[in-house]
Amino acid sequence: MKIKISTEWLSGCSGCHVAVVDLHEKLINLTDSVEFVRVPVLMDEREYPRADVGIVEGAIRSEHDRAACIKMRESVKTLIAFGTCAVYGGPSGVGWLYRGDSVLEKAYGAGMTNAPGEWPDSNAPKLEQSVVPIDEIVTVDRYLPGCPPHPYWIASAITGLLSPEKKSMVQKTVCSRCERTMKKVSPVALQKGNVTAADDTVCFLSQGVVCMGSVTMERCLAQCPNKGVACSGCAGPSTDIITEPHLDMRTMIARRMSMLTGIEEQEIRQYIEDEARTYYAYAMASPVMYKKPAVKIREWAQ
Ligand code: SF4
Ligand code: SF4
Repeated sequence: MKIKISTEWLSGCSGCHVAVVDLHEKLINLTDSVEFVRVPVLMDEREYPRADVGIVEGAIRSEHDRAACIKMRESVKTLIAFGTCAVYGGPSGVGWLYRGDSVLEKAYGAGMTNAPGEWPDSNAPKLEQSVVPIDEIVTVDRYLPGCPPHPYWIASAITGLLSPEKKSMVQKTVCSRCERTMKKVSPVALQKGNVTAADDTVCFLSQGVVCMGSVTMERCLAQCPNKGVACSGCAGPSTDIITEPHLDMRTMIARRMSMLTGIEEQEIRQYIEDEARTYYAYAMASPVMYKKPAVKIREWAQ
């Protein structure tokens, strides 16, 4: 019997749903084993048919998101938080810094890209005052972070559901797939604002460029560092950061980069705090991050 899959799309960019379509021929192979009963980008199904697996993209920011997430939970046996927005808030979670009414004021009251004063009408779903990952509202059975998760990992997750005896997915960091070599190179200055570096074979940290790879879960095949751009942490924190309350991303990156380059740890830590909106962008709405004793995102992001 085929496994029935239902998907929903909350406050996100739809990139996670597009990543499912990016499975290409793997998607066709999967249709022998699964039946998609609801997929907003592929079919016009407004109801929530019963399904074995529910895949939810996006964070919860509006009344619609909350109601849809609850309906998904009620209609499926296994619920997957799919993509970094659903798991940690993701890019949608940056709105956690702002109350709902100030978001509306910024976008519609004073926004540069619309006529000032043209507000959403009463048919638009009401914004909630904050943004939360979906497990703040419903019970989640599995998590698949990534922005979006690479189709390799999506296929791996679905295959895992089809063969429950299969081991859970590996939880290594982006560094595990990166082809660059970490080595001591000093003296080097901190490259503020840079996401690229001159030597394509050497770790960004060794070249003074902040790279989040060593503190980020690998759900991307390390495509950014392998193509010349430092990791921005889009799959959210690594397992050790999640499980150890006193470990923090900026501290770990600063320690590692300082050992490789001789740059003072304090200078690196301070830079990451100053740029917290960038370096904590993907997980700041999650208690996994903002409840850490050493993390003061609201203070840093002022
Ligand atoms: S996790 Fe990334 S790709 Fe997925 S909905 Fe959020 S912003 Fe889009
Ligand atoms: S820190 Fe970045 S550049 Fe260095 S090995 Fe890890 S992913 Fe690659």
